[in-house]
Amino acid sequence: MSVFRTVRGMRDFLPQEAAILRSVEEKARRVAELYGYGEIVTPIVESYELLAAKAGEEVKSRMFVFKDLGGRDVALRPEFTASVARLVATTLRNQPRPFRLFSVGSVYRYDEPQKGRHREIRQSNYELMGSEAPIADAEIVLLTNSLMQACGLRNCVFKVGHVGVLRGIFDEENLEDKVQDAIMQLMDKKQYDDAFTMLENSGVSAKCIKILKELVKLKGQEIFDVVKKMQSLVEGYGKAAEASKNLFQILRIIYESACDLDISVDAGFARGLEYYTGMIFEVNVPDLDIALGGGGRYDKLIKLFGGESTPAVGVAHGLDRIILAMQEQKVLPDAKLEKSVAVIPVDEKLNGEALKIAQLLRDAGVRVEVEVVGRKMAKALEDANRRAMDFAVIVGERELKEGAVVLRDLKKRAQQTVKVNAIAGVVRN
Ligand code: AMP
Repeated sequence: MSVFRTVRGMRDFLPQEAAILRSVEEKARRVAELYGYGEIVTPIVESYELLAAKAGEEVKSRMFVFKDLGGRDVALRPEFTASVARLVATTLRNQPRPFRLFSVGSVYRYDEPQKGRHREIRQSNYELMGSEAPIADAEIVLLTNSLMQACGLRNCVFKVGHVGVLRGIFDEENLEDKVQDAIMQLMDKKQYDDAFTMLENSGVSAKCIKILKELVKLKGQEIFDVVKKMQSLVEGYGKAAEASKNLFQILRIIYESACDLDISVDAGFARGLEYYTGMIFEVNVPDLDIALGGGGRYDKLIKLFGGESTPAVGVAHGLDRIILAMQEQKVLPDAKLEKSVAVIPVDEKLNGEALKIAQLLRDAGVRVEVEVVGRKMAKALEDANRRAMDFAVIVGERELKEGAVVLRDLKKRAQQTVKVNAIAGVVRN
């Protein structure tokens, strides 16, 4: 018989890893709560049509697609935003704006597995819908910073750009959407030469090419200088100029919020998802050269899905990568916080008594594992030691007659007889 392994790109989380994952998810939930985002749980399987509508060729080609038994074309969600947009276009259609919604869960992409890249990706995703004001964009960036801080991550750098600058120029050059999308994809992958070849072949003006070549070089942490240079470069391209003004306003609000973020503006920055219309950003730490999270503004998606025109901005954080970064920076939380107790009956006749005492301790909030293998006392104690448990409760007939047990402190290697109803107190102190 063959040896079964996880499917390529999928991972198991053993108890310690799962505990870390859950603690990071907990932080993501806490940040959501502090910013007023309500949780929504949407299906992992959605219609292919919905997920493909505006995902972009790159994401579409990496989706897990299949037919369900009813012959429907469905797929595993490659991201959350399409599901949220579906909800806002339907069930939440008539609810007052703005919405603040978040989800935590897995998305699936047929990416090439490597360090920090998997096919089941755990994300926390936040969407702020119903505002086109720069303060909304700023909120999503600041919220992301709050999560990074909650995870104890240092030296986070935010890379910020604006899709409207490039698209504004392309629009004015009458470049078809399809070609625009393809060029943005290439830029996202930093394949600038290919992007420029495609541009040159598409018949845009020499001026446009010249400006774009300048733009893709324009980046830096002197953010207001960079945006001002951007503004003077795109002068004459109305929409692009508007976009760079919008970027300036967002950055000013972030700066004035005094949250002290490390930001680098990158004028040639593009992101893989096609639906972005405005500010886009990513967050990185120097220890890893992969993004921990990314997002941006997408003002047209809800309308595209048949809803009221609703401007929106959102972000997805890669929890797997956040954990990796926490590992690199050595800020992972201690998985084990509570005291643990092994309850060991001296004789199998006392199994019932052992379970009774275990239950008493659990009711008092103590973590208990009962000896279920029937090992001799020495073996059971050795095992409890090996697994770094804090105490053993030895349930013996003689002590029980007095309503007591032997409580052994496995760390101090000392033991005492303790009344059953006093064990929890001793263990906790
Ligand atoms: P996106 O939905 O593409 O904006 O991605 C948001 C975040 O999810 C990224 O910044 C990464 O942290 C994470 N992410 C995306 N793809 C993967 C992957 N294949 N493996 C692990 N994390 C990923």
